[in-house]
Amino acid sequence: DIVLFNSFFNRIIDRFEMSKSDKVQFERLFPESSFYVEIDTDKVTQVIDNIISNAIKYSPDGGNIRFGFTGQEDMLKVMISDDGLGIPKENVSRIFDRFYRVDRARARSMGGTGLGLAIAREMIEAHGGKIWAESEEGQGTTIFFTLPYDADEFNEAGEWE
Ligand code: ATP
Ligand code: MG
Repeated sequence: DIVLFNSFFNRIIDRFEMSKSDKVQFERLFPESSFYVEIDTDKVTQVIDNIISNAIKYSPDGGNIRFGFTGQEDMLKVMISDDGLGIPKENVSRIFDRFYRVDRARARSMGGTGLGLAIAREMIEAHGGKIWAESEEGQGTTIFFTLPYDADEFNEAGEWE
């Protein structure tokens, strides 16, 4: 499907915003311009759902969760950032591995299988994008992913030609 990423992303965030606790604040840092992407909407929804659930789950004391995206050459770059527990430097690259969970004690008390981000990586790579994380232990985590879009396919109004 070809979708306007701006409203697609908004709808997913809205769904979480309705049920989130008051300890967590959502901040949408969206650009003015329109970005259309050709994606499997069910799959990309599943990816974003897991990233947002993680941001909430691993922010037990609350804080801000920021959502943003920008166009970079031929890729749309999306970021979801939290002020939560963070991930030790040496483990950051492993969170996309199957069944990998940082700190077993923490993981056991929080529920989950450790598959969410492995599936996310598979799905984003199947779309021709990349996914990665930046994190500071005790400070928070930012997940980035990219999706290809073709700027030539848009007219001045940002509409699909
Ligand atoms: P599942 O998504 O399968 O229910 P999960 O959330 O544990 O389980 P992933 O989403 O794959 O699994 O994440 C893997 C691990 O990466 C998590 O167990 C957690 O240790 C760490 N992690 C992921 N996102 C964050 C985050 N925003 N902050 C801190 N740690 C995170
Ligand atoms: Mg998860």
